Amino acid sequence: MKKAYQNLMSSDQKNSEFSTLANQLIISTTDYYVRFLPKTDEEKEVLQEKDSLVLFDMPLDYELEEGVAGAYHDPSIPEGDITWQYSVVPVDYEFRNIEYEILADLFLQDDEFDSEGFSTKSSANLSLRNTIRSQLNISLWEKMENEAFRLTGNLDDVVDVSSNAFDDSFQYVSFARRSKWYPSGKIQYEDNTTSRIIPLEGAKIIVKRWFKWKSDITDANGDFRVGKFRSSKVKCAIKWERADWDIRSGSYGQVWYSFESLSRGSSWNKTIRRSSTPRNWLYASVHRGAMEYFYNYNTYGIKKPYNKWWFLKRRLHIGAKWKETHWFSDHYFTFNKIWWSAPVVVYSHWKSGTERDSRQIFATTVHELAHVSHWEIGYSTAQYVIDYLADDPFLPESWATGVEHTITNRVYPASIVGTRNFPHKNDLQHYSLDYIQTESDGYTPIVIDMIDNHNQSTINSNRPNDRVSGYTLGQLEDALPGSFGSWWRWRTRLREMYNNPTDGAELDYLFREYR
Ligand SMILES: [Zn+2]
Repeated sequence: MKKAYQNLMSSDQKNSEFSTLANQLIISTTDYYVRFLPKTDEEKEVLQEKDSLVLFDMPLDYELEEGVAGAYHDPSIPEGDITWQYSVVPVDYEFRNIEYEILADLFLQDDEFDSEGFSTKSSANLSLRNTIRSQLNISLWEKMENEAFRLTGNLDDVVDVSSNAFDDSFQYVSFARRSKWYPSGKIQYEDNTTSRIIPLEGAKIIVKRWFKWKSDITDANGDFRVGKFRSSKVKCAIKWERADWDIRSGSYGQVWYSFESLSRGSSWNKTIRRSSTPRNWLYASVHRGAMEYFYNYNTYGIKKPYNKWWFLKRRLHIGAKWKETHWFSDHYFTFNKIWWSAPVVVYSHWKSGTERDSRQIFATTVHELAHVSHWEIGYSTAQYVIDYLADDPFLPESWATGVEHTITNRVYPASIVGTRNFPHKNDLQHYSLDYIQTESDGYTPIVIDMIDNHNQSTINSNRPNDRVSGYTLGQLEDALPGSFGSWWRWRTRLREMYNNPTDGAELDYLFREYR
C-alpha cells in the first residue's frame, strides 16, 4: 500500500490532492493475514465461537478449481490433524495459546462506514480505521487501492472508475452510489426423488474479495444477499457448515462449494444438480437432513439431536463420502469423538453400488442424527456393544428407524412423491413377523407400530398383529432408557409414564415378538 502511494505520488503529478497529502498520510497496519494450527477441535471451536473468526481451510489467495466440491488439506500436515486455518484478524486481536503465524500485514479500509464484514467489532480497531479514512476521500482511496491491486497482480479487483462516475465538470459525484453493490443470488437443489428444483434453505454463503468477506444464510426461497462491496468482481462460495454441525469430505476436511467469480450486475444463481456437481449435490442432500432435524425437531415433539453449547463442545462433524457404504453401513461412532474425525458418516451409494436418491440420503442423515440424539440422551457405545453382541441392536436401530420414517415422510408426503413411492419404505409395515425376528438386524417397525393405528396382520396374516396405537414420537423418546437401560426397560417406562389403553398385552406382544 505504501508502494502504491509512492507510485501515485510520482506518476500522477497532475493530482495535486496527493501532493498536498505528502508526508501527512499515515499508512499503518490495520489487520493481519494469519493462519492458525489448532491442535484440537476445542481450540478450533474457540477461534470460531469465542473470537468469531471465519476460518478458511485454504489460503485466501489459493484458487481451487471453480465450482467444484471438496476440501483442501495442506500437504505438509498429516491427514489426521487439523489443517492450517486462514483468517484475518485486527491488529489488536489478542492471540491465544494456539499456534499461529502472521503471513502479512494488511491495510484494510472499510467499504462503508460501519464495520460489517470485518472479523471483529473491536472499538480500538474501528477508531483506527476511521482515522485513516478521515485522511482520504473515497476517490483518492479508490485510486490508491487500485494501484495496490495492480502492483500485486489482482487485476480482477481493480475498480472500474469509468467516466459515468463523474459529472460534466469531472466532479466526483455519483461514484459512491454507483460503486456500491450487494452481491446476491439464489441457491437451488435438484431433488431427484420428486424431479423438482427446490430452494436450498440454510446454506452458508461466503462472498469475498481479496482479504474481505461477508456472509449470509440462504432463506426459505434459497435467496441470499450480503453487505456492500465496491469492486467489480467478488467471489462466492458455499461453506457447508452451520453453528451446530459441519460436513466433511471423509472423516476430516471441511467441504466447500469452491469460490466462483461473480461480476457486478450479476447474481450468483446456482442449481445444485447431481449430474453437474455430484459431490456438492451429496453435501446439499445431507445438509437438508441436518437442517430439518436441527431446526424443526420441535414440530416432531422430539429433542434437538446434538447440543454443542454444553461445555463448548465442538460442532458435530458429518462425513459425506462419495462411495459405497461398507459393511458396517452409515454409522455413528462415539469413539470417533476421541479424535477429530466425523462421528457420523453418510454415503452416496448403497453397498450394491446403486446410487442413493435425494430422499434416501435425506433419510439416512436423519437416521444417523437420531443415533446421535439417542447417545446424547444417555445411550452409550458400551450399551450398543452389549446389545449388539447379545443379539441385535434392537433398541437403537428401532428408534432411529422410527425417527427416520416420521421425519422423512413428513418432508416427503404422498402429494409430492406420488402414492406409488410413498411412504419411504422404512415404515417396515411389509415385514413379516418371521423376518423381523430373524433377519431384521434390529431394524424393527416398533416405533411406527406404537404410533400408528394400522394393524398390518389384517393385510397379511404373516405380519405382526399390531394392536398398539396412540403414542407420540416425543413420548417414545422421553421414555427411552438411560445408558444401561434395555429394550424391556423401555416398555416398562412407557407403562409407568403414560396412560395408554393399548399398553397391556398389546404392548407386550410387540416387545416380546420383535426380538
Ligand atoms: Zn442405525
